[in-house]
Amino acid sequence: MTKRDYYEVLEISKTSSGEEIKKAYRKMALKYHPDKNPGDNAAEEKFKEAAEAYEVLSDDNKRARYDQFGHAGLNGNGGFGGGAGGMNMEDIFAQFGNIFGGHFGGGFGGFGGGQTQQLRGSNLRVRIKLNLEEMVNGTQKTIKVKKMKIAAGVTSKTCPTCNGSGMQVKVMNTMFGQMQTQTQCGTCHGIGKIADKIPSGANAQGLVKEDEEVTINIPAGARDGIQLNVRGKGNDAPFGGNPGDLLVVVEEEVDAHIKREGDNLHQELYVSFAEAALGTQKEIPTVGGKVKIKVDPGTQSGKILRLTGKGLPSIESYGKGDMFIHINVWTPQKLSAEQREFFENQMKNGEMVAEPSGKEKTFFDKVRDLFN
Ligand SMILES: [Zn+2]
Repeated sequence: MTKRDYYEVLEISKTSSGEEIKKAYRKMALKYHPDKNPGDNAAEEKFKEAAEAYEVLSDDNKRARYDQFGHAGLNGNGGFGGGAGGMNMEDIFAQFGNIFGGHFGGGFGGFGGGQTQQLRGSNLRVRIKLNLEEMVNGTQKTIKVKKMKIAAGVTSKTCPTCNGSGMQVKVMNTMFGQMQTQTQCGTCHGIGKIADKIPSGANAQGLVKEDEEVTINIPAGARDGIQLNVRGKGNDAPFGGNPGDLLVVVEEEVDAHIKREGDNLHQELYVSFAEAALGTQKEIPTVGGKVKIKVDPGTQSGKILRLTGKGLPSIESYGKGDMFIHINVWTPQKLSAEQREFFENQMKNGEMVAEPSGKEKTFFDKVRDLFN
């Protein structure tokens, strides 16, 4: 971005006097002040540009360097160096704040500020663990939170600093004469009241830390990491301010059996040698309760059964994920004498040998199937 000429920015001539520069800057600053142009980025840029131009041209030294070398003469020498916007709004307000006071409801406690703001209590953050079923179906949880509350017996009185207005007016001598600025009262933070009688155990604002039980309604479809906002259940603010919010962060409880992967669920199922050979029925847990599944005769280890729609409801669509059952055939590790004899005979007679047909699904086939 090419930098505009500072004289052009302030709409003045190269021979302008210090007094004219001041006047010109004041005009620009008032025109582009962010309180007058809320949300207008172009105005904010002009406001910054004017501040930068003024900062240079109001300084005889910098002005001389600028006149001789242009913008390049300022780099690294107390100039702004890196182009327009080198000054942030805080800098500008800190340096020239007095110029604007009294014109825009005053106040530079952050910009756009100036209005009395009711003090709000701070937010509280808690984590809550939910199992898969609770996340899917929603639930209600009652938890105990430690929060700042107005102590019983605390009384208030009118703030002596601002006489209850919540604002402080300061008169300042600035380069444009006397200016009035209005800021939020530093004693009562804009409330107009301060604590009078404070019971023992409470802090200077009359607050005390107490346990409170809060019941939280968790909607169906919550997910790990989601944050719920419970309005007004955070810390109290002193005297008449609104309490903060309680922010509840959902954490997924790790399930011993069911693993989640996006909307899909996975679990392992172990069947015995005999069950795999003869076929069987098994009851398995899902988030909607137990379901019966059929294991076909001759089922191989590593087979994956898919229960369509038994996963989690999708957040993005109306669909549902699936449940995948990974079948493992359990090879016996301790054999009775009788069983040992049975298996030995099978081996001797050449029975019970592995005879894949070549049509068995490989591990990679199974993985690919999961995504089809
Ligand atoms: Zn006050």
